[in-house]
Amino acid sequence: MKIIAYGIRDDEQPYLEQWSKEQGIEVKAVAELLDEQTVDLAKGYDGAVVYQQKPYTAAVLDQLAANGVTNLSLRNVGVDNVNADAVKRNGFKVTNVPAYSPAAIAELTVTQLMRLLRRTPTFDRKQAQGDLTWAPDIADELNQMTVGIVATGRIGRAAMRIYQGFGAKVIAYDVFHNPELEKQGIYVDTLDELYAQADVISLHAPATKDNDHMLDDAAFAKMKDGVWILNPARGALIDTDALILALDSGKVAGAALDVYEDEVGIFNADFKNFDAIPDERLKNLMKRENVLVTPHIAFYTKTAVKNMVQFALNNNKQLIETGRAENEVSFD
Ligand code: NAD
Repeated sequence: MKIIAYGIRDDEQPYLEQWSKEQGIEVKAVAELLDEQTVDLAKGYDGAVVYQQKPYTAAVLDQLAANGVTNLSLRNVGVDNVNADAVKRNGFKVTNVPAYSPAAIAELTVTQLMRLLRRTPTFDRKQAQGDLTWAPDIADELNQMTVGIVATGRIGRAAMRIYQGFGAKVIAYDVFHNPELEKQGIYVDTLDELYAQADVISLHAPATKDNDHMLDDAAFAKMKDGVWILNPARGALIDTDALILALDSGKVAGAALDVYEDEVGIFNADFKNFDAIPDERLKNLMKRENVLVTPHIAFYTKTAVKNMVQFALNNNKQLIETGRAENEVSFD
């Protein structure tokens, strides 16, 4: 059995080598992404492991199948950049990694909230200027707050456990009610109820057609004054213009954003200096001491990266051996 892995970064390489050694299976790692220039590298392999934001086009998938490779294992969750028609007509088997470390995302989310509540960005700046005074930067305590979790999937539940550990009251909204959480009585019936009660809103829903710009002018208007907003989920959930207005008015006390609606092509790029970042709205947010922007790094931990690589390789091995895999994605 031989597997080719595309787009392998330096930080992924050791986990790939470890798996290959433990399994006794040859894995060829290439740094390039899967595209028309690199698709022929897959000739002679039984499966391909991939991860990229650029599209897996029909032309590339047709050629990959012509090269004899129809077992395709993604190292991430999302499959929206995979051409579904080409998958179906070529009989591809596709797997993803639905959860690589929910705790990684939850831990960054709460870390950033604590930084906001304790005003650490302000104290870091003051101290760098030799100013060791306290006032006026008095903090808030999480244990006194109600946290509203939007979506109680794997990450929402991992975040919930941490908030509860801090002693916060947790309420939640989800279109699907988790039976265990239902027993604890944490669900509210509508987003409006969550907006009315929450001091902190922690977003953990996927982006769908229904929830595009879930947080818009109307939603912010329904929230408590001085609410804190956390988005480690998807940029499309927040209307950035509405957030900027709500920050300007003080309706929103502060925000921690690991995602941004126009992040593709900007996050994980080095523009060498702040002014060169080609997005004025993003810079507007980044300049604020009460807004913490991180470039989609919540997943970027050793545990999560190891799991993305090794779970994808396990899936690919299963496909090659049995024609089926636990994490197979349906394109019907
Ligand atoms: P999950 O599939 O376990 O849970 C998603 C939950 O969202 C489900 O309970 C579902 O019922 C609920 N949901 C769907 N639409 C909803 C809506 N309109 N309103 C309320 N609830 C809704 O997913 P997960 O593993 O917890 O991941 C959640 C999201 O986190 C992902 O979809 C992704 O967008 C994001 N994410 C971000 C990073 C990062 O690095 N920042 C990494 C992984 C995932």
